Amino acid sequence: MDHSVRIALIPGDGVGGEVLAEALPCLQWASGQGRRMETIQLPYGADHFLATGETLPEKAFQNLRDGCDAILFGAVGDPRVPDGRHAEEILLRLRQGLQLTVNHRPCLTRPCPALEGRVPSVDIEIFRENTEGPYCLQGSTEPGRAVDLAVHTEAAVRRLLGAAFQRAESTGHSLVLAHKANVLKHGHGLWVRIFEELRREHPRVAARGMHADALLCALVQDPSHFGLLAADNYLGDLISDLCAAYIGGMGVAPSLSWAPHRPFRCEALAEPVHGSAPDIAGKGLANPTGMLLSTALLFRHLGWEPEARALEQAVADALATGARTRDLGGDLSTKAMGRAIRDRLP
Ligand code: ATP
Repeated sequence: MDHSVRIALIPGDGVGGEVLAEALPCLQWASGQGRRMETIQLPYGADHFLATGETLPEKAFQNLRDGCDAILFGAVGDPRVPDGRHAEEILLRLRQGLQLTVNHRPCLTRPCPALEGRVPSVDIEIFRENTEGPYCLQGSTEPGRAVDLAVHTEAAVRRLLGAAFQRAESTGHSLVLAHKANVLKHGHGLWVRIFEELRREHPRVAARGMHADALLCALVQDPSHFGLLAADNYLGDLISDLCAAYIGGMGVAPSLSWAPHRPFRCEALAEPVHGSAPDIAGKGLANPTGMLLSTALLFRHLGWEPEARALEQAVADALATGARTRDLGGDLSTKAMGRAIRDRLP
């Protein structure tokens, strides 16, 4: 992108603001490298909801959709809003409203003392559908019965799998579709049908489907057999948290959601895989690594490849030399970990 990029910052709740604060100097650093950008900070989250009753007002959503290029998002979820209504209305509205079908979650081992000898090295990328499946929030609770609908549309499945096949072609990774079409005959049946179609169109990609239960077993036994994994919203959520364990847990796992068909100006949202972690919020204990790696994914999406690589390398160097927060067995605060990474930027 040659024009000035407009990035919306939504810290959200809990540790969201703490980790997002560590990404801001990286944006300034990219700006110093000649990348033109402006940022706007938005207040949406539990505090704003409790003070005003607003979650994500329609006007604010439209301004984001049509006036920004991308979003850097912290996390939402707060024990003061037990039904999670504000979180749903903010994050799901953004994912669904912006049609951010593809949620890309790379899990690449970056050597660090906390992992040595404990878990195998992995280089796995998860492509998780981000807007549908059982997370479409349609259902009902009736006396003696509860229903959650899972909706899968051909358009979204095709977009997600199309992006996964494209990525497999460019990286040379094999591609596995996780599904349960043996029981979920309609929804996952659709996934398998489209997967088979695309498999025929991409003869160079080593692609196969696997029942998700067998896949999870194989992933635990030997993750080195796997490269790219594609799944619906629900299975993708579970599989990506499992894979995050191989790279150091929730604090280090990044994600980028995007809309391959580019329906709106705002076409990408970077956020760490973790949630708002209320148990450690406000204590300076959150690991900002997942947020910074998500920022690197956003840089790459914007076409800022040198900055993306430099930030990923800074994370790798910091981890390799023993910088770690408590979740990785160390004692650095969120800010100190952020600084340790930034100090390694060129
Ligand atoms: P969500 O449903 O929004 O994904 P969750 O209920 O899965 O959220 P998280 O907020 O991700 O929960 O937290 C899960 C666990 O991981 C908690 O014990 C939390 O402290 C830990 N955790 C999450 N993020 C971080 C982080 N950045 N650094 C260290 N630990 C974290």
